[in-house]
Amino acid sequence: MAKKQFKSESKRLLDLMINSIYTHKEIFLRELISNASDAIDKLCFISLTDSNVGLSREDFKINLTLDKENRKIIIEDNGIGMDKEDLDKNLGTIASSGSYRFKQEMEKTDDVDIIGQFGVGFYSAFMVAEKVEVYTKKYGADTGYIWSSSGADGYTIKEAEKENAGSVVTLYIKADTENENYSEFLEQYRISELVKKYSDYIRYPVIMDMTQTKVKEGTEDSENPEYESVTEPQTLNSMIPIWQRPKKEVTEEEYEKFYHDKFMSFDKPAKIITTSVEGVVTYKALLYIPSKTPYDYYTKEYKKGLQLYSSGVLIMENCEELLPEHFRFVKGVVDSQDFSLNISREVLQHDHQLKTVAQTLEKKIKNELASMLKKDRETYESFFKEFGRQIKYGIVSDYGMHKDTLKDLLMFYSSNSEKMTTLAEYVDRMPEEQKYIYFATGENVTAISKLPQAEKVLSKGYELLYCTQDVDEFTIQSLMQYNEKQFKSVDSDDLGIEDENDSENTDTYDNVTKFVKDALGDKVSEVVASKKLISHPVCMTAKGGISFEMEKYFAAVQPEAGMKAQRCLELNMNHKAVEAMIKAIDTDEEKAKKYAQILYNQSLLIAGLPIDDPSEYADLVCSIME
Ligand code: ADP
Repeated sequence: MAKKQFKSESKRLLDLMINSIYTHKEIFLRELISNASDAIDKLCFISLTDSNVGLSREDFKINLTLDKENRKIIIEDNGIGMDKEDLDKNLGTIASSGSYRFKQEMEKTDDVDIIGQFGVGFYSAFMVAEKVEVYTKKYGADTGYIWSSSGADGYTIKEAEKENAGSVVTLYIKADTENENYSEFLEQYRISELVKKYSDYIRYPVIMDMTQTKVKEGTEDSENPEYESVTEPQTLNSMIPIWQRPKKEVTEEEYEKFYHDKFMSFDKPAKIITTSVEGVVTYKALLYIPSKTPYDYYTKEYKKGLQLYSSGVLIMENCEELLPEHFRFVKGVVDSQDFSLNISREVLQHDHQLKTVAQTLEKKIKNELASMLKKDRETYESFFKEFGRQIKYGIVSDYGMHKDTLKDLLMFYSSNSEKMTTLAEYVDRMPEEQKYIYFATGENVTAISKLPQAEKVLSKGYELLYCTQDVDEFTIQSLMQYNEKQFKSVDSDDLGIEDENDSENTDTYDNVTKFVKDALGDKVSEVVASKKLISHPVCMTAKGGISFEMEKYFAAVQPEAGMKAQRCLELNMNHKAVEAMIKAIDTDEEKAKKYAQILYNQSLLIAGLPIDDPSEYADLVCSIME
């Protein structure tokens, strides 16, 4: 029979597995049992509505058989099984994102210990087996198949009669070598220990024949009781899913292991949330807030949602309705016996019980984040660096509907310190006479702190929020105010700061501003005598509700709309450079025009905006120096 080749990616992973020097080879069993359990989940779900399956919840199980003599481990399930296509697709390529991600990580590092952090899947069998056979029949199919492979040189598939749906995976265990002992995996005690260690929460019985020495019946009371060796099937796992166990009894390690196995995440969760609710809908939930943004988080591949169980049956792998968009980074499971089992997935989506659960979960997640912010600031800050953008999107989306839920979770950099601040803390620090919450936008913190138009606010000792993300300004616009304090951009005409200079009549400079506007033409929409500059000669501010940062944002996402900020050039009439230009207006008009051009270009540079013609600007400066 012709051998088929593994897809090249898979071959590489397979090589890694076969030649693995990894010490925790034992995880192969966890992976195969977890595959068996997933396959049973699928058929169990079908059996809820399809009586042809002929099995009920209690009939599903995973059988382990050890054949010491022939060095075989057999893992059998009565789950959904696979047909020929499935075998090609699932076992011939790296099907799961977990394995794929693993392969990518492996290529970056030599640290073999990372294997344990991944759901590396089916191929891990090759860490202990020289040959693997999968004898399987898909539910509803006419015939079964045997897939067989001795590793990297490929695999074969042949037809084979099989009575019932399900899979039988046979591992032909490698011979021991000088450095490696594989025979341990053929020992009952070792296998039962591994099931307890890694697969205890699997919700179907994992059954194996266990041999035990027992007192012979009838001899219990005699003085010399006789012993005999008895072999009988035993269930090795407790079958209690981790979320059903009392929190006190579960170690953090166990919770983390579950997170890694179940959600293919390998970060240490920032927060583990357990909740048990009794009420209109009774449910238990186990939720995880990741500490790292998943690599595919901002792609279409990422699926928002929680796993939904009903009385131990997996109803939905990714129930989107359970999570609001702004908490889409949360992972976890919800288990409720109140969802009727016969419900179809479509009906479930409109189920109002589901909405009730979603609402209480949203509140719970919000409160947990708020308490993390209060009690574990450092963790919260690193969480916010990862997912703050998502929270901000949440405020902007749905016409600001969620802003009250989310506003206290926001953090911004500010002039107060190097650390981020919340809005509540900002408002707390406001001196009594300060009317507004001030903010400025720019490329980064340093650039913003040096903006000329920020000078006035800062010189007053008022705090300034630094908006460095494109979504920041939209967030502030959606909020409009916080605790009755309105937000104010440093670009605004009226900063609400009383000042001696304000009494100065700026009208006297009408001729100057008109001159500069004429000299610059359409490059600016307005030229004004500034009320907010102190040491700088000029600044460029944005008028008309669109800031320069927004302009950049729109240019990137909607270039065709041509959204532009209105450029307003502000002149500091008390600055020596501006005074020099004013003088030149009367004495040497050509020179005055050059000065105007230079000041204009300077304002662009300071604002971090591209100047129209750099070489022209350079020539201009040189001509003045000559
Ligand atoms: P993962 O389980 O992470 O998707 P695996 O490499 O472990 O990756 O398995 C690949 C695929 O092979 C599974 O997604 C599943 O579709 C299929 N599979 C593996 N084992 C079984 C089994 N015992 N019964 C049915 N399908 C299986």
